[in-house]
Amino acid sequence: MINLLEPGLKLKTSEISEYHKQGKHTTTFAEMHKIGNGYIIDTPGIKGFGLEGIDKSNLSEYFPEMKAIKNNCKFNNCTHTHEPDCAVKEAVSAKKISLMRYNNYLNILADENDKYRQDDYK
Ligand SMILES: [Zn+2]
Repeated sequence: MINLLEPGLKLKTSEISEYHKQGKHTTTFAEMHKIGNGYIIDTPGIKGFGLEGIDKSNLSEYFPEMKAIKNNCKFNNCTHTHEPDCAVKEAVSAKKISLMRYNNYLNILADENDKYRQDDYK
């Protein structure tokens, strides 16, 4: 895309992976380029987000709609995933909490590699 905006830069690109049917990581370091009156930063991309400083047991604290009702869960250490009498799951069922937001919560909770996957850049 940056090459389209500024062909003179001739930035290195790769073909789509036949196996993964996705683009391959080609950019290996962040670099800023001047384009017109502005700048654009080409980065290796973001594969995932870690939970820097956030404990998974307190993740629901960062979802205000869950934080507001989590004290109504039967268990005070409820993860809102499998426990009975979970106020959050009940609110999701009743559409008082967005299913998309709840799925985001579950995805973050299930992320087994909270760190950047270094292997993706070798
Ligand atoms: Zn719960």
